[in-house]
Amino acid sequence: MPELRKDPVISRWVIISTERSKRPSDFRKEKEEQKEVFCPFCPGNEGQTPPEIFAIRPHNSAPNSQGWELRVIPNKFPALGVDGQLNRRGEGIYDMMSGVGAHEVIIETPKHGESLADLSLPHIQQVFSAFKNRILDLRNDIRLKYTLIFKNHGAAAGASLAHSHSQLIATPILPKRIVEELSGARNYFKFKERCIFCDIIHQELKDGVRVVFDNDLFIALAPYAPRFPFETWILPKEHHSHFELINEEGLQHLALTLKILLQKINAALQFPAYNFVIHTSPVQEAPLSHYHWHIEFMPG
Ligand code: ZN
Ligand code: ZN
Repeated sequence: MPELRKDPVISRWVIISTERSKRPSDFRKEKEEQKEVFCPFCPGNEGQTPPEIFAIRPHNSAPNSQGWELRVIPNKFPALGVDGQLNRRGEGIYDMMSGVGAHEVIIETPKHGESLADLSLPHIQQVFSAFKNRILDLRNDIRLKYTLIFKNHGAAAGASLAHSHSQLIATPILPKRIVEELSGARNYFKFKERCIFCDIIHQELKDGVRVVFDNDLFIALAPYAPRFPFETWILPKEHHSHFELINEEGLQHLALTLKILLQKINAALQFPAYNFVIHTSPVQEAPLSHYHWHIEFMPG
């Protein structure tokens, strides 16, 4: 029987179809589908990308040369026009994007065939640390209100290049989905004087029904009203509104949490394509009592 479930944060009704939901065997297998083409993200091809903005170079090699572990570059085909023209690419959350901004690519590893799940824990930690670093830099531009960080893994999830990377889009407006979440969370806080995400965490830990796993600092859970089969949220257990204020210990635990989630998903769904998005507070806001940053992870 299909069921209607209301997302408690943004009050959106979701139809949960039991018959038509994807089974593990329905997910596209990304491992077998990668074709070999010229890759601008591979070491040796640094000259084929726009000059780097940030890089981790353990042996202090020169910018835009080899010897890096992680590189951040401007997107060659940005979703945002620098001249303020609306450049519609993609769908959903992208529809709200216009005007000035930044669109950056985080190349997570020099090794072409390596996926985020294959990286060592310190290396995954470096990826999250690069996200944090870039947000802290971009928020100095007070025109920018939001930084959206997301990853599309696999062609079925919209990744145009196989080499493992994630993306950052900084915009002068708030994405619609974030506006809805902020307003739902603010309304809840007005009545209960508690953060709705903190309440969800407490209830899920008590019920133990939708908790995928947890550790000292993070919880991975299946949301009550998911939009996609196997949708999973990662939340810090302690209340924090801004991802970029995470400390070293937090980054370490977050890397571990994502690695375990990817291993579980890969085991259950045989290496599916996936997306994840970091939902965080507007960068120019002071810490908020009603909003709680988290990662929304969706295989498919
Ligand atoms: Zn490559
Ligand atoms: Zn909270």
